Amino acid sequence: MGRGVTCRQCGASTPLPDDLRVPSFACQYCRAQLVTAAYAGAAAVSADALLGHVGAAMRGERTDAAPRFEGSRSAATRAAECRHCRAPVAVPLDVTVHTFRCAPCGREQRVNEYVSDGERLAIDLGRQVAGNDALARLRAEGVECSRCGGKNAVPDDGSVQIVCQFCKAAVLLSDHVDASAVARARLKHGIHAARGEIVHKRTARDKLIIIGAVIAAAVIGVLAFVMQTR
Ligand SMILES: [Zn+2]
Ligand SMILES: [Zn+2]
Ligand SMILES: [Zn+2]
Repeated sequence: MGRGVTCRQCGASTPLPDDLRVPSFACQYCRAQLVTAAYAGAAAVSADALLGHVGAAMRGERTDAAPRFEGSRSAATRAAECRHCRAPVAVPLDVTVHTFRCAPCGREQRVNEYVSDGERLAIDLGRQVAGNDALARLRAEGVECSRCGGKNAVPDDGSVQIVCQFCKAAVLLSDHVDASAVARARLKHGIHAARGEIVHKRTARDKLIIIGAVIAAAVIGVLAFVMQTR
């Protein structure tokens, strides 16, 4: 069972801010300042940072490099024996990590000397699929509130939390499924929404262009008529 968003000062359950880029938020009961990333997780916070960047770039406000999405990070490792000193080592399975250091002998080593990049990709794909499936199951079956045990519906809208409809406790979805799956769903929904906004804006602009063209044609028509009748 998850801990939800429990205020470290008063123990009350308080919801996270809607925009996870807000670095800290106030407990709605005692007003203590709580760190957003400590509850939402780095992956979900990085999804909002990336979406914020995409939005700003679409409005032409930013042209710098996009922040990194942490949603594919994996903390999984594989136990192995160091090739140099034979000490037990934990080989990182995160596909973005290419080297690791054996603590006993201090040697920096390449991960693919222990696990091939292809195998790591396959493992990571399996992990992502399993996370997405678990999230889909949670949406289909609902989530149990860790405070009152009530079953709550999980919307498919990129939420990282839901507020229990019975006791109002905040329930974090990452307490029940892989946090990176929640972050990926959040990113997917955000990008969908941003794309919808572009299409909407474009449609509005196209309408203006059509109206402008109609008015111009009418003016030209009137002018032509006036010229002819002179
Ligand atoms: Zn509090
Ligand atoms: Zn070693
Ligand atoms: Zn509840």
